[in-house]
Amino acid sequence: MTSSIPSPTPAKAPVFTALLSTETNGFSTIPTGLASFSEAFVRRDASLEQPHGIGAYLGVFRALAEADGRGVIESVSAGAEPAGLTVQAVYESLRDHILDDLRAAGPVGFVLLGLHGAMMATECDDCEGDLLARVRDIVGPAVPIGVELDPHCHLTKKMRDAADVIVTMKEYPHTDWAARGREVYAICAAMAEGRARPVSAMFDCRMVGFYPTTAQPMHGFVERLTGAEREAGILSVSLVHGFPWGDHPDCGTRLLVIADGDQALAERTAERLGRELYDQRHQLIPAMPSIDQAIDQARSLAGVVVMADTADNSGGGAPGDTTHLLRALIDADIGPCVFGAIFDPGAVTLCAEAGVGAHVPLRIGGKLGPSSGDPFDVSVEVAGLVEDLQQTAFGHRFSFGPSAWVRVGAVDVLLVSRRSQVYARDAFTGMGIELANKRVVAVKSSEHFRADFQAVADHIIPVATPGALQMDFAALPYRRKRDLGFFPRVADPLGVDD
Ligand SMILES: [Zn+2]
Repeated sequence: MTSSIPSPTPAKAPVFTALLSTETNGFSTIPTGLASFSEAFVRRDASLEQPHGIGAYLGVFRALAEADGRGVIESVSAGAEPAGLTVQAVYESLRDHILDDLRAAGPVGFVLLGLHGAMMATECDDCEGDLLARVRDIVGPAVPIGVELDPHCHLTKKMRDAADVIVTMKEYPHTDWAARGREVYAICAAMAEGRARPVSAMFDCRMVGFYPTTAQPMHGFVERLTGAEREAGILSVSLVHGFPWGDHPDCGTRLLVIADGDQALAERTAERLGRELYDQRHQLIPAMPSIDQAIDQARSLAGVVVMADTADNSGGGAPGDTTHLLRALIDADIGPCVFGAIFDPGAVTLCAEAGVGAHVPLRIGGKLGPSSGDPFDVSVEVAGLVEDLQQTAFGHRFSFGPSAWVRVGAVDVLLVSRRSQVYARDAFTGMGIELANKRVVAVKSSEHFRADFQAVADHIIPVATPGALQMDFAALPYRRKRDLGFFPRVADPLGVDD
């Protein structure tokens, strides 16, 4: 018997892949240094054992490249929890590692990168544009470059000039990252094999907003985008939500369409869909109750109420240590509640020293910067300690590091040593905290928590808390953003109303 596995043809050169991802909050004072990437995930070897987390992009690309006989050359996979500007030398070392690997790879069939699209360094506003332009210089004009971006990106001209295929995830929570990875791969493979000629067009909606896709009208709009992809000649449609707190020169909402060889079709489709979204702009303004209103609502509701401390989501670069909602829940005395996760390694250390069962005075939160608010001095009972608390989301286990569960009356509070938003219930259950018997489960997250917490939530209330991720977009103190004539700062920037 001889093997029936065909050997790769010379025409199928390998695919080069890498991942570099962080979302920079332009208003955050928390630096993003090498430890931020090391804590999340950074791989610098050429073959990832088991790509995971956002790095799972690379697993998708690898599986596809192996299935079609190309094989894969993998470079850096590095992601950091969102915070302030990345230290320039750290960005350059990660970038140059990718570029060195690409030069060493020799001829490649195409390049696939998993990037965030809102990464800024201390001396570079557009890290992704910078990286892509350098990749283009190395591979030349003929080799396809494909990129999967987070929809909370800034889509710059530099990125679009350098890359052939840019696709953003359509869903927020970003549950479709793997499907979008397959889409980027398919278009790049078709281009490399001469079966497609992607051309793209972008429409600037002149809006700044926040667009969860689990509710209307965005749920329906995602279906409109998917529907447009079934039209003749359209290869891909992406909505760039933009990252309002990025304070980037190109911060804002855009429609991106890739057509097969037909530039006019791409432009028409991008404008048509962009204007459809624009027409719904007033319904898209986040309407959230204040803390007091949310607690009043919770009192009148039966079952488990999941509240989101939206403005202190470290997933958007916020410090993750505000206590406004925690204090209000304790004062409200509405029965058993749980609150977390508060980033406070010092408090965790004191709790570990005191031990489970100890009653100690504790200063909680309010330490990282002006948007942290005031610390909260309170007597707590140490109810649990875990050496390395983890939660599972997007197929990856995220670490909170050493963590403590403290009790303040009927409120269980989760204190952690690594900044992360709460994605999943195991952030609490991994500590031994029951959720089903709670009146309120309050999480520091804006939207990603929904994917997992809806299993336990009878009601979900996103709360307009104070903090770094304010949803009053007209009031954001932009310094870098170029176009200040955006909705909702201006009522009708595209001039369609009479
Ligand atoms: Zn995002």
